[in-house]
Amino acid sequence: MTQRKTFSLIEDKHIVPRPTRAEAEEAVRVLLRWAGDDPGREGLIDTPERVASAFDEYFSGYSADPVDLLKRTFEEVDGYDEIVLLRDIRFESHCEHHMAPIIGKAHVAYLPHRRVVGISKLARLVEVYAKRLTIQEKMTAQIANTLDEVLRPKGVAVVIEGAHQCMTTRGVHKPGVSMVTSRMLGVFRTNPTTRREVLSMIGTPGGAFGEHV
Ligand SMILES: [Zn+2]
Repeated sequence: MTQRKTFSLIEDKHIVPRPTRAEAEEAVRVLLRWAGDDPGREGLIDTPERVASAFDEYFSGYSADPVDLLKRTFEEVDGYDEIVLLRDIRFESHCEHHMAPIIGKAHVAYLPHRRVVGISKLARLVEVYAKRLTIQEKMTAQIANTLDEVLRPKGVAVVIEGAHQCMTTRGVHKPGVSMVTSRMLGVFRTNPTTRREVLSMIGTPGGAFGEHV
């Protein structure tokens, strides 16, 4: 397991002191009692430790810098000036309202302006923003904006489809519902033909989505 920093840098630049591992595990014990169970019983004895470790995984995006990640770009593209699209990037996130899982797919496209970025970096970019507490709208905008700022392409298109467990396992209990969000920048925003082209490359959002719910 990678050792996280003592402090995590939160988006609005507030530095929040990180609690100790023991404090985090104690908080899980409190929630177990809140649920109505006994944290001292055999089956639950190691649960706080496991939950703290799981949190390191679920929220690993706080310790990664999305801008740094995209810094290495390639200029040798031999005049390639068509859309680059990475489709069906599966992600696992957690909603910031209920800490319930959001499972879905992201489609990230850009129209290069001289520079391109390794495609695995696009998937990593999605992961860094997904592995935080977020809402889908925010995550969609963050991915698009960061790609736009760092790569300075002619346009960026991000479409995300997500199934929100806070809607399926609680609240309104509506399984089978997926939310689709998008953010279009540059030519994808201003040129309807280019926008149609990228949307047809992505395909119908929701079309291959049944497996998640
Ligand atoms: Zn929620």
